[in-house]
Amino acid sequence: MSEHTDRIPGLVAGLRHGFERGVTRPESWRREQLHRLRALLLERGDDFERALREDLGKSGTEAQLTEIGFLVTEIDSALRHLSRWMRPERVAVPLAAQPASARIVPEPLGVVLVIAPWNYPLMLALSPVIGALAAGNAVVIKPSELAPATSSLLGRLVPDALDRRAVAVVEGGVPETTALLEQRFDHIFYTGNGRVGRIVARAAAEHLTPITLELGGKSPVYVDETAPLAETARRIAWGKFMNAGQTCVAPDYVLGRPEVLRELAPALEAAVHELYGNATARNPDYGRVVNDAQFERLVGYLDDGAVEVGGGFDATIRHIAPTVLSGVPRDAPVMRDEIFGPILPLVEVADLDDALDFVAARDKPLAAYVFSEHPATRKRWEQETSSGALNFGVPVLHLVAPELPFGGVGESGMGAYHGERSFRVFSHEKPVLTKPFAPDTLGSTIMPPYTAQKSRL
Ligand code: NAD
Repeated sequence: MSEHTDRIPGLVAGLRHGFERGVTRPESWRREQLHRLRALLLERGDDFERALREDLGKSGTEAQLTEIGFLVTEIDSALRHLSRWMRPERVAVPLAAQPASARIVPEPLGVVLVIAPWNYPLMLALSPVIGALAAGNAVVIKPSELAPATSSLLGRLVPDALDRRAVAVVEGGVPETTALLEQRFDHIFYTGNGRVGRIVARAAAEHLTPITLELGGKSPVYVDETAPLAETARRIAWGKFMNAGQTCVAPDYVLGRPEVLRELAPALEAAVHELYGNATARNPDYGRVVNDAQFERLVGYLDDGAVEVGGGFDATIRHIAPTVLSGVPRDAPVMRDEIFGPILPLVEVADLDDALDFVAARDKPLAAYVFSEHPATRKRWEQETSSGALNFGVPVLHLVAPELPFGGVGESGMGAYHGERSFRVFSHEKPVLTKPFAPDTLGSTIMPPYTAQKSRL
């Protein structure tokens, strides 16, 4: 263990002590933490914007829309609904058990671990924390070391803003995460890739710790001849090129018949121009690739098809222009792993059946996006494919509806959160049944000696 990692067992034990003393249970404590987190985001918004610009070249507006503002909205919603979420739910008991009353009481799980990735390094570190605090847990936050400015800001600001007895930030990479995973937690919430997701799942199994895995995958887009092309292209370009394509639910590739894709390519070019102009390297609204390793990997994909849009790059500023490739073979490298960058392959399919088969033959993606006005086509996507989410007519937007569970299925993850579900993820729903001593009816309904009548409840 390094100096860094050997303080981890004590730190987790300290939080457990705080939790066991009941620090986190009162509704008033939960509300206060949420208010303080909200104030931190608003008061230090400029610092967070700066850190996000440093890590990912993120524009201030995009940082507000997709990270800071997103979190504030989620906190507001938690504060609005917390009393209702915490309220025990009365449920019926069967006749044979009556008189009795039954309730479901949500209780906090204990000390939970949140491991975050680099692509939305603020939002994905704190969004699960909102649910964890609302549900009355102590939390360890492990930000991504690949977004170092945001990680260090969280490491400095969160301990001062929130209750140190119940919230801690552990900065670092693999050694620190490995040391954390050796500790016993009551829930682990991991966002990132499937390889590390498996490491998390194995470590969690040691302590029988429940997990949520928010993973990624290749989210397909399907466009047919009924979709209005200009608006379709604009929406696809928006979802794809936001954060320079480094969004877990970004459209990964587009499937369509050759004649549809032939018309879509120029429409995408016009859309990119409309959103980002033609000098994206100098456009502050357009992001950067996070690091050199990702940059090299992405540039390697540029030979996998004919460049229809963009194709330019500059290693010195880790800029890759919004790029559309056509004529991409189905087995090209760009079609193997999640792209996670600003490159959009157009892949030809013969018809709808071919597109559905293509998606069904691959890992279940985090999202699927269908641009078609045919009700029958939409229905077939809904019934014949499986994905974390399915949107008609727009990518990404499901994320902003707190009533919709956000999460994957199969290779794209397990468990879901947002809104009330975030509270539920970090709660145990404890059944509490109360039976009065009188009148005693159990002898005539459930207890021996048995009669034929007693075999039914
Ligand atoms: P990352 O490299 O930042 O890793 C995520 C976390 O895992 C980090 O905190 C890191 O320290 C930790 N980690 C890395 N290697 C580890 C190891 N060997 N042992 C223990 N911990 C380790 O981020 P990433 O995985 O590159 O993120 C990108 C992926 O995340 C993409 O696949 C993307 O689709 C997915 N993602 C999913 C969502 C979602 O909500 N479902 C959101 C964002 C990103």
